[in-house]
Amino acid sequence: MTAVATERLIAPHGGTLVDRTGDRPEGVDSLQRVTLTSREVSDLDLLAAGALSPLEGFMGREDYERVVEELRLASGLVWALPVCLAVEAAPSGDRVALAGEDGRLLAVLEVDEVYEYDQEREAERCFRTTDEAHPGVARLYAQHPLYLAGRVTVFDRPEPAFPELAKDPAQTRAAFAERGWKRVVGFQTRNPIHRAHEYLTKVALETVDGLLIHPLVGDTKSDDVPAATRVECYRVLLDGYYPADRVLLSAFPAAMRYAGPREAVWHAICRKNYGCSHFIVGRDHAGVGDYYGTYDAQLIFDDFEPHELDVEPIFFEHSFYCRACGSMASAKTCPHPAEEHVFLSGTKVRELLAAGEVPPEEFTRHEVAEVLIEAYRA
Ligand SMILES: [Zn+2]
Repeated sequence: MTAVATERLIAPHGGTLVDRTGDRPEGVDSLQRVTLTSREVSDLDLLAAGALSPLEGFMGREDYERVVEELRLASGLVWALPVCLAVEAAPSGDRVALAGEDGRLLAVLEVDEVYEYDQEREAERCFRTTDEAHPGVARLYAQHPLYLAGRVTVFDRPEPAFPELAKDPAQTRAAFAERGWKRVVGFQTRNPIHRAHEYLTKVALETVDGLLIHPLVGDTKSDDVPAATRVECYRVLLDGYYPADRVLLSAFPAAMRYAGPREAVWHAICRKNYGCSHFIVGRDHAGVGDYYGTYDAQLIFDDFEPHELDVEPIFFEHSFYCRACGSMASAKTCPHPAEEHVFLSGTKVRELLAAGEVPPEEFTRHEVAEVLIEAYRA
């Protein structure tokens, strides 16, 4: 990979791709340990890889305050969600070792500051609700009471759930450059891809050079389809229906926050770091329940000047197969009544699959349906 090869791609957020990986330092075993939750381990891994560029560690108070209040880092750069490490008490040394829940040491953190934070305010500002039934709020309320800030050096990365799909931002950028792509659209998903999402990824791809299908594989709600099943669905769909030289499938190791609009901006910034110039934002992106308005995750992008994000959001309506049009369509492009549309609710699809029945081909490719039926049977 040469510098010339990737310079055609969009620049990382803040201008430089961060790399916080490094060698295991001497004496790390004798440092005080902080045990991370699985969500914090996901964030640590994103920090290591530069997916959260320009962040080099867990956020200090100045960045945190401004992100919560204004969706900006202290520097003024747009940033949508806190990336913080919660601890029980302030550590004594100037360095601590960060460990996973299994006790394995992963990184060293240079202690910068320890500060109190207001969980309810963070919930209200970031999730637009203080309701504990919201999974992101519930996670926040269960956290330790202090935030520990500082730069991290990660010497042991967690094993990726899907090694063959594990690509850091430097690697996706190299892959795009190798294929000669300049304009690349990123697609975030935490669901199997049915015809509707296949359609919008292809509509987006028509206008750019390449498509990054970037399923989130970190923690999700327990009722979301497990990542292993989804990955199998993506594989059969890509094998059968996408041109291999225009599409890259790779895993996004983040945990879901379910922060709706703010998470849409956060997802876009992360994908910019992976080299995407464009990012697909559907209705209710990263939403849960009915905490967010249908278009909130699209409208929030109007709060910024285009150059501030650089990565361009592409907004989509829900789409469906229309029998009268004889094609996939959306309310934007189809004049026909709902009776002409092949639409199944999430509940209806789950019922069909659980009963071993294949949904209509206009709704789900049969290859995808077969994977899901098999998963439900297990
Ligand atoms: Zn129609």
